Amino acid sequence: MKPLLFSEVMVQPEALRGALEQMLRRSNPPQSLLIVGMAGSGKRTLARALAAAWLCPQRTPHGHCQTCTVCQKWSDTGEHPDLRVLKPEPDQIKIDSVREMRSWTTFAPAVAPFRFVMVEEAHRLNPAAANALLKTLEEPPPNYHFILTAPASDLLLPTIRSRCRIVRLGALSTEAVYQHLRACYDLPHETLQSLAEFSEGALGLAIRWAQSLQSPATDAKGKPLPSELDALQQLLTVFERLSCASLDEALRLAHEFREACKALEGGVDERTARAALALGVEYLIHWYRDSLTTNYAGAPLRFVSRQDALRQLARRFSPSERARDLQAITDARRAILGNANPQIVTEHLFIQLLRV
Ligand SMILES: [Zn+2]
Repeated sequence: MKPLLFSEVMVQPEALRGALEQMLRRSNPPQSLLIVGMAGSGKRTLARALAAAWLCPQRTPHGHCQTCTVCQKWSDTGEHPDLRVLKPEPDQIKIDSVREMRSWTTFAPAVAPFRFVMVEEAHRLNPAAANALLKTLEEPPPNYHFILTAPASDLLLPTIRSRCRIVRLGALSTEAVYQHLRACYDLPHETLQSLAEFSEGALGLAIRWAQSLQSPATDAKGKPLPSELDALQQLLTVFERLSCASLDEALRLAHEFREACKALEGGVDERTARAALALGVEYLIHWYRDSLTTNYAGAPLRFVSRQDALRQLARRFSPSERARDLQAITDARRAILGNANPQIVTEHLFIQLLRV
């Protein structure tokens, strides 16, 4: 896909847009930029929009002009003679890719005043590749600039990080994600609302889910595969039962919870079983936070579409009981990410949550 115009990229926090516009006003791009943010926060989209803007000799603070000879060189698949992209293949960026990039940097730019190297998921550079990249960043060839992306800056070598200007992308509001989806996808209101709520402000993630709902992935026999959204809906069904289930049902609910989390394994983030379970617990944390929020009129809820169930939970347990439960859920998440037995932790947790 061709790069988006910078002004069309959704950027959060809003103050960041102003800072990036300032950068686009200068005659030269920064030597190295590192864009960090969670999965689906738009790092790659922003990186490409910025590279397109800086390559264009007629750029404005809104982005590239889209008409000059440099801009016309963008292919429909998003390639450009003055851009080289390094990315994990499949899970690591190896030294060969960095070597190949280094030999590319011995040439002068083809059409633009600069050349850009993009390193996507730079935390997946293996040690040899990271060291080779560091050498290039320390002595950059003339007219070459670098944009790296990663989920968090502390996943990179401190020596690489310290060479980069860091741009941190935050989460969009649920409402902003919803409005964007509504403009682009012909799906029912409730579905779009759920996607927006589940995405935790990561628009890219919400878009991938919406696309997979419009054209579902299928197995070898052409049968639609359950989507991550199905898994999340199933989780919420378990959470809703916390408002009315008896203590006898705790073990069964814990089992259903673990089953729902299984469907979160893999996916775009290649989640492990433990990470998937921890993600499920994170949604439970949001559920309890939301239920506490229902005590304050007008405060924004994450799971707006489930507010009846949230209020029911709030009627069943006092705020202090739910605050104590929230602490137990947070502890369970820590135990799961450590080495605790997932079955024991979740059973213990659900017994705690249903104790009246
Ligand atoms: Zn242009």
